[in-house]
This record gives sequence, C-alpha cells and structure tokens, in this order.
Amino acid sequence: MAELTGKTALITGAARGIGRSTAFELGELGANVVVNYQQSKEAAEELCGQLTKKGVKCVAIKADVSREELAEKLVKEATEAFGAIDILVNNAGITRDRSFLKMSREIWDEVLGVNLTGPFNITHAVLPGMVQAGWGRVINMASVVGQTGNFGQANYAATKGGIIAFTMTLAREVARKGITVNAVAPGYIETDMTKDVPDSVKEHVASITPLGRMGKPEEVAAVVGFVASPKSSYLTGQVIPVNGGMYM
Ligand code: NAP
Repeated sequence: MAELTGKTALITGAARGIGRSTAFELGELGANVVVNYQQSKEAAEELCGQLTKKGVKCVAIKADVSREELAEKLVKEATEAFGAIDILVNNAGITRDRSFLKMSREIWDEVLGVNLTGPFNITHAVLPGMVQAGWGRVINMASVVGQTGNFGQANYAATKGGIIAFTMTLAREVARKGITVNAVAPGYIETDMTKDVPDSVKEHVASITPLGRMGKPEEVAAVVGFVASPKSSYLTGQVIPVNGGMYM
C-alpha cells in the first residue's frame, strides 16, 4: 500500500508549476488530490484527468484563496468530495515586483492577500477537521526570499518571511493535536513565476548557487511528499530549504 493511501491532500494553486508537480507527487504516494485553481481551469481539469488515469481520485475546484468566503467554499466542497482533508499544501502565490519607493499600496495588498491571507483563510477552514481527526500535515510554500530579502520584492519577501513565522507559531499551537506544520523554502525554480526573469539574473543566480543551476518543480514536490508522509512524524515548525545550496 502506498504511504498516503486513504489520505486526502488539498493543494492550492495546483494547476501550474510547483503545485502541479506536488499534485503528481502526492497522487503517486496514494493520496486523493484536490486541485485548487483560480484562472487555469483547463490545466486543472487536464491534470485531474491525468491523475484519474493513474488511478488517483481527483477533483478540481476553483477558488481565489485571498477571499475568505471562497476559501471556505473550497474547503467545504473538498470535504464533501472526500470526507476530510488530511494534508494541506498552501502553495498558491504571486509576485508583483517594484522597488519599494515605487511600490503602490495596491500591489502590496494584492501580494499579501494571496500569499499570506490566503493561507490564513484556507488553514482556518481546514484545521478544525484535522483537530477532530487527530492527524494532519500543513505545508506552507515559503521562499529563500523570505530568509534573505530581495531587491524589488518588499511585498513578496514580507509574505514569505511572514509565512515562516506563521508556520512556527501554528506548529507550536497544534503539535499536541497530532498535526505538524512545516514550510518548504524553494530557491529559484523553473516555473511561470520565474520565466520572465532576465537571462543575466538567471546566470547570476546559477553562479551563486553551489549546485550551479535553477531547480525544477519536481525537486520541490519530492520534499513536500516527504513532509506530507507519515515518515516525517518528528518534524514540525521547520523551514526546509530546497535551494541548491544558494542560502545555507
Ligand atoms: P506559478 O507557476 O506562477 O503558479 C502560481 C500558482 O498560484 C498558479 O497555480 C495560480 O493559479 C495560483 N494562484 C495565484 N493566485 C491565486 C489565488 N488568488 N487563488 C488561488 N490560486 C492562485 O508559481 P510557482 O513558481 O509554481 O510558485 C508556487 C509557490 O512557490 C508560490 O507560493 C511561490 O511564491 C513559491 N515559490 C516559487 C519559487 C520559484 O522560483 N518559482 C521560489 C520560491 C517560492 P491559476 O493559474 O489557476 O490562477
């Protein structure tokens, strides 16, 4: 029997990038998969189709995680589909880069809304079920930028530093209820989020990364898979870097 057989995983922003690879990883480990999407309906349905062909139970559910009522509706629909959510991966994220002096309040709020209030909304709705079950895994997608800061990303870095603090706090609060809470902090990963980064910056990133290249979404998903599994039973409140050694 696969490690996650009988468990259900909800992955936010799962139609593309790291979320998509995570859906495959957790599905391969035997979990039922809830693919949340906001705009990428076709990609989400295609992903669910692929997973279903592999024998994974999958539903795709649209929701903007930054909106509390929609986040609650997502969790309600996911729970109705599979009975409970055992594994939550708060993956959905956006960037809206500007140097701080040019950063409008609008893009500050937009990035906080998705990257920080989104995990609040979803986790708030999912956690009571995990408490009732006496078992759960919450995995938050942080970033190396939340550990180092980054030029032009005051909004994004604040959310990723914030999600790390949120992870440690929630880990302390729910540890005795059988729930672990960890963050995974990727470095530069080849997804739509980084596709428009200029080549010169990508070359610089590779040059300061001991492994000498950007990462692939499946390399992040593999770590999420371990953190989601029963094998990670003594791991909580941690930030697990997947950054090629760029920051250590
Ligand atoms: P991506 O390819 O740009 O995908 C972003 C995902 O977030 C999409 O699936 C998108 O869904 C979803 N999303 C955006 N706004 C949403 C909302 N309001 N509600 C629900 N879903 C929403 O990004 P990625 O590189 O895979 O990043 C995934 C996570 O890893 C993010 O949290 C990101 O900050 C983090 N990360 C990425 C890197 C990197 O180098 N790529 C590095 C460190 C951390 P739709 O397409 O359906 O709208």
